[in-house]
Amino acid sequence: MVCCPVQGGRRIQVRKVYMERQELSLLPLEELLKKEGILCSCGKCHKSPVDQVELGRDNLQRIVSMAEECNMKHPVIIADRNTKEIGEKAGKFLREGGIAPVFHLLDTDRPEPDEYWVGSVSLYYEREWDGIIAVGSGTINDICKIISSMTKLPYILVGTAPSMDGYASNTSSMVRDGLKVSIPSACPSKILLDTRILAKAPMRMIQAGLGDMAAKYVSLCEWKISHLLTGEYYCREIADLVKKSLDTCMESCEGLAKRDEEAAGNVAYGLVLSGIAMSFAGISRPASGMEHYFSHIWEMNALEHHQAHDLHGIQVGVGTLLSIPVIKAIGKMEPDREKALAYVNTFDMEEWKGFAKKVFGAASPSIIKREEEEQKYNKQFHKKRLEIILSKWEEIQKIIDELPEETWLREKLKETGAPLTPEELGISREMVHDSFIATKDIRDKYISTRLLWDLGMLEETADRFFR
Ligand SMILES: [Zn+2]
Ligand SMILES: [Zn+2]
Repeated sequence: MVCCPVQGGRRIQVRKVYMERQELSLLPLEELLKKEGILCSCGKCHKSPVDQVELGRDNLQRIVSMAEECNMKHPVIIADRNTKEIGEKAGKFLREGGIAPVFHLLDTDRPEPDEYWVGSVSLYYEREWDGIIAVGSGTINDICKIISSMTKLPYILVGTAPSMDGYASNTSSMVRDGLKVSIPSACPSKILLDTRILAKAPMRMIQAGLGDMAAKYVSLCEWKISHLLTGEYYCREIADLVKKSLDTCMESCEGLAKRDEEAAGNVAYGLVLSGIAMSFAGISRPASGMEHYFSHIWEMNALEHHQAHDLHGIQVGVGTLLSIPVIKAIGKMEPDREKALAYVNTFDMEEWKGFAKKVFGAASPSIIKREEEEQKYNKQFHKKRLEIILSKWEEIQKIIDELPEETWLREKLKETGAPLTPEELGISREMVHDSFIATKDIRDKYISTRLLWDLGMLEETADRFFR
């Protein structure tokens, strides 16, 4: 079952046997995290930089053996005001276990993942540190992943809220020069999650985690469509793995509202698994698609105008509810070759650049540069894509059929009291309309808005749903 060559080790001659279908979704977590990886029927050897995930009740004490396994004798514990108490408790366990941690407090309720906090931690760096133990969720993890990457120190994360899927990924979602960027960084090698702590997290953070999971309906659907149309790499096993934990999360909604520990653990597990799935695939496809780009654009806009924005997963949850009806509508469309060609013929590049400036502001030069390299608006490239789309239309419709109905998902998210509309987040109708059209430009990914552009139906769909 597990058969990839370990670095420096010898290749085991079992490839033929193990190329049979390997159902990742049936494997226990320890199996998924095996150092040598898993050779999958997709042809890839799937590996995660995480080697241990401890998820259970009242298991904070496990930090001692985890630190020992990482040879930590003087680790730094990094927490903020909200997670200070848990950090101190972890410190107490470590001292009792013969380890001498130092404590570094980010003296704020809400650190930003930016130059200030990375710089602040860096300035407190001591050569005696031989490991990093972060106590927190999204932002603290993002900051500590960067610090771990710079210092090469082993890194353990004590997750305090099931709020986003970045626990097990080796990129940090940062704000640099006021812009939202994803920076390659380190990944915690060990993750400790205590369901009793997770269930007590602020409800907004729990709702955010659920929103970040709900996104997977869209991302998995778009990944499959893109594979069909562009030949992009796709792994059915990874998709099934994410889908299975997504289903468990959705069954946990009622429990989440009551702060049920098992439900909070299910969401945390799903989020960790999504991070692992991304590292298995080597791309973010299993976990993020158009719904995430709504959120990225809203966040970039808020940053540019020095306004507050909501939690990533909260925005992503709303983005998911906006995306599903549009994708369902695509499934009912009848593509028209002449209409699509006429639309693309009248497409005005200068007009698009003006639109990019309006929506992306300071980030627009990099967006425009990306298009110059990528050439998705090139008429010849479009023609080729269009023929593929037309020939595979029924298959596209079948993939879309697998998406749940928006009304069902809305009820699920509603059970936890999560925000459901852009209005609740203070996002205007015009912003939703423009950000929808701009989702196709933010990354080099074939998503639903690109499909609509290829069909010559983007603006009319934007007007139909978001005017
Ligand atoms: Zn695979
Ligand atoms: Zn996300």
